[in-house]
Amino acid sequence: MGQGKTELTCKGSSIFFAPAFPSLKEFIEKHSYSRYFVISDRAVFSLYGTQLLDQFDALALAGDSFFFESGEEAKGLSTLEKCWNAMHRSQLDRASLVVALGGGVATDLAGFAASCYMRGVALMHLPTTLLGMVDASIGGKTGINLPTGKNVIGTFYQPVAVFIDSSFLATLPKREVVSGMAEVIKCAVIRDPSLFHFLETHMEKVLSLELDALQHILFASCKIKAETVDQDEKEHGLRALLNYGHTFGHALEAATHYRAYAHGEAVSIGMCCAADLSLHLGLTDTAFVKRQEALCERAGLPVRLKKRDEKQLLQLMQGDKKTAFGSLALILPRGIGRADIVRNLDPILIETVWKGRMD
Ligand code: NAD
Repeated sequence: MGQGKTELTCKGSSIFFAPAFPSLKEFIEKHSYSRYFVISDRAVFSLYGTQLLDQFDALALAGDSFFFESGEEAKGLSTLEKCWNAMHRSQLDRASLVVALGGGVATDLAGFAASCYMRGVALMHLPTTLLGMVDASIGGKTGINLPTGKNVIGTFYQPVAVFIDSSFLATLPKREVVSGMAEVIKCAVIRDPSLFHFLETHMEKVLSLELDALQHILFASCKIKAETVDQDEKEHGLRALLNYGHTFGHALEAATHYRAYAHGEAVSIGMCCAADLSLHLGLTDTAFVKRQEALCERAGLPVRLKKRDEKQLLQLMQGDKKTAFGSLALILPRGIGRADIVRNLDPILIETVWKGRMD
C-alpha cells in the first residue's frame, strides 16, 4: 500500500489512512456539529494541538480543549470528573463532537467521557502512538482505571471516525514504537501469515518508520482488528483472540507494578509463554515457537523475564477479568495465523512455562 487514501470501516466507524488534518476537516465539513471538544494528553497537544485547532478555526467551529498530564494515572475517576465538568462548562450539547488526540490513554478516557456525556456524543479519534493506531482507537472499547484495577470501568462506544496518520510516529519515543510492535506481531500470529512474513522481511524498514512499510503494517493490523470486532463486538468469542499474550502480559505488568515492562514488552513475553504452553500441549511445534520468538527479538522486544515468583504470576493470571467462571482460559497459537481459545488449563503447567522463560 502506498501513500494513497485508504479506508476501512468497523461497526459503523470510518477508519481513514491519510494525513489527519486535511482529512479530519473534510469529514467535519460533511457532518454538522454544534461545537468541538478536544481531549488530549498535554505532551501530545504541545506537538500537534495548534495544527488541530487550526482545522476548527478554518471551519468556524467553536469549542474548547481539556488536557491531562501524560501517563496511565490520568485514566482515573478524578480526571474524568474534571473532564465532564469542563465539557459541561463548555456548553457541549448532544450535537457536539469530542476529539481524542493522543495515545491509548487519550482515546480510552475520551471514549468513556463521550459515551456517557448526555448519554453519548459523537467521538473522533486521532491516535498518535502505534498502540493507539492498531489497537486502542479501533473497536469501541473505552476504559477507566480504579485504584484496584485497570480498565474496570468501561463501555463499548464506537467513534464516528478514526484517522490513522503514520507521521505522528516521527516524534514517538523509540521504546513506545517497539512496544506497539507487539500488537502488530500479535495480529499477524492470530490471523495473518502474510503480515507475519512481511514483518520478517521488512522489520528494519518498519522500525525506521519508512512510509510504505509502515502504511502496510498499519493497514493490515487495523483490518484484522476491524474485521474481528465487526464479527464479535462484545467479545463473546472471536474478539477474545485479540487478547493473545495479554493474560500472561497483564500478570507480568501487575507483578512489576507497571514499572519494569512497557505494555508491549510484557505482551511479547506473554506471547512467548503462550507459544511454550501450546508446545507443551502438542498444539504447535518448535519451529513456530522459534519463528515467533525471532520476530519479537528483531522488533527489539524481550522474550524472557528476570527471575520472579511464578506462583504470584499464576495468581495474577487467575484474577484477570478474562478468566470466566474460575477456569483459566487462554488464547494459544497453533501456527502462524492460527490461534484458539483453550479452557481448563492446568495451573501447574502454566507455572512451568513461566519458570522456563525466566533467566
Ligand atoms: P499513552 O497514551 O500513555 O502514550 C504513551 C506515551 O507516549 C505518553 O507519554 C504520551 O505523552 C506519548 N506520546 C503519545 N503520542 C506521541 C507522539 N506522537 N509523539 C510523542 N509522544 C507521544 O499510552 P499508549 O501505549 O498509547 O496506550 C496505553 C493505554 O491504551 C492503556 O491505558 C491501555 O489500557 C489502553 N488500551 C486500550 C485498548 C482499547 O481497545 N480500548 C486497547 C489497548 C490498549
